[in-house]
Amino acid sequence: MAKQAKIHYIEPVIKKKEGDYDPFIEATLQFENAADYLDLEPWIYQRLKYPERELIVHIPISLDNGTAETFTGFRVQHSTIRGPSKGGLRYSPDASLSECKALASWMTWKSAVINIPFGGAKGAVICDPTNMSENELKKLTKQYINAIRDIIGPYKDIPAPDMFTNSQTMAWIADAYNQNGHIEPAVVTGKPVFLGGSLGREEATGTGLFYILREASKYLDFPLADKKVAVLGFGNVGQSIAKRVHKAGCKIIAVTDIYGGIYSEKGINPLALKEQVIKNGSIVNFPETVPIDNEGLISLPCDILIPAAIEGQINKNNADDIKAKIILEGANGPTTVDADNILKEKETFVIPDILANAGGVMVSYLEWVQNLQRYFFSEEEVLDKTEKKMKQAFWEVIKTMNDYKVSMREAAYILAVGSVAKTYRVLGRN
Ligand code: NAD
Repeated sequence: MAKQAKIHYIEPVIKKKEGDYDPFIEATLQFENAADYLDLEPWIYQRLKYPERELIVHIPISLDNGTAETFTGFRVQHSTIRGPSKGGLRYSPDASLSECKALASWMTWKSAVINIPFGGAKGAVICDPTNMSENELKKLTKQYINAIRDIIGPYKDIPAPDMFTNSQTMAWIADAYNQNGHIEPAVVTGKPVFLGGSLGREEATGTGLFYILREASKYLDFPLADKKVAVLGFGNVGQSIAKRVHKAGCKIIAVTDIYGGIYSEKGINPLALKEQVIKNGSIVNFPETVPIDNEGLISLPCDILIPAAIEGQINKNNADDIKAKIILEGANGPTTVDADNILKEKETFVIPDILANAGGVMVSYLEWVQNLQRYFFSEEEVLDKTEKKMKQAFWEVIKTMNDYKVSMREAAYILAVGSVAKTYRVLGRN
């Protein structure tokens, strides 16, 4: 690789203890690996390694009990060269700047790998949404948007749902960003349909995951019927992919969420499980199941493992125990670099997040397009466009994987980083 320029970038992350999982270090290692294959010019390498912008905001809100609390939020924009940056908003007690930086860069690569005109961004607020009222979450969301409003907009940066945010949160964002009382729908995606949301967005990530899994089953000659599936995380992504694989004849044998997990050799009906989650808030104690934890689920004898919760769940401590033939990454960054190396040795077919879960951003893109032109597509049109994009991206990644003799993740990164680098090169931004 070409000699790299001297680095003057200041790392504003508070250093963690040696050996602690750090999402941005993981994302950087993945990028550097792809850059090695591409022999990038030093200025492009530096531009892509670090985010364009990191904003930290502090948001005081009054709570229902009459006290007040200040929450810290982030918005990171990794790249805007291919179009406005795009990325979700996450509410979590474990949110951090490092996590946002990693997630923002993964969004850049995701948009590039499926070839839609967006860059990558991510936002988060450190809070415990499970212990906050709807009124408190509404105030928090609106104050957070007020605090970051200068750097977002339909042609700048467009938020979307992520962990513990949903279409209601997106409606609050649309209102907080309003221009002279009128909402500007294209500033945020994942809105309720009657507010300009797209048909098919609610389940888009799971739908896209399924399109990719179906192509993988053809490529591997691995029919889906009767395959045993384990799903880690049962929120938007976990529920929608569970529903799809169940319909395709797979047997869901285990599911976990933040409160615990359930196992049944006979199989779990995801529709009935979703009903329980709507009623009780968790999957725990679902009838005719026994308890299981994340580690138990990850090491189960099954065919398809679907991480659909947080980063770093598949790591060097459990990768060796994995028995699944396919890992379909619904979550962002669920597999660490160390685990990836172990899985490559074991020839586990890992379908990487930046390809597998890109259905969400694809339908967000369609929502944005519909909002800008004030013209709406039928659900059939949305699904048809999404399926075509996802299939095309899958086979391009497979071709790159075979051409370079690398893993599927490496192939997806080579395509994505190569495409963003080409944009910088052609525009001459050095
Ligand atoms: P969500 O908030 O709807 O659901 C998250 C689920 O994970 C919940 O069931 C929660 O209980 C569970 N969970 C959280 N921590 C856990 C833990 N430690 N162990 C087990 N389960 C745990 O979030 P989501 O939108 O489904 O997002 C899940 C993942 O998918 C995230 O990595 C997100 O970045 C990624 N993703 C989401 C979308 C989208 O459109 N929502 C798109 C692409 C990728």
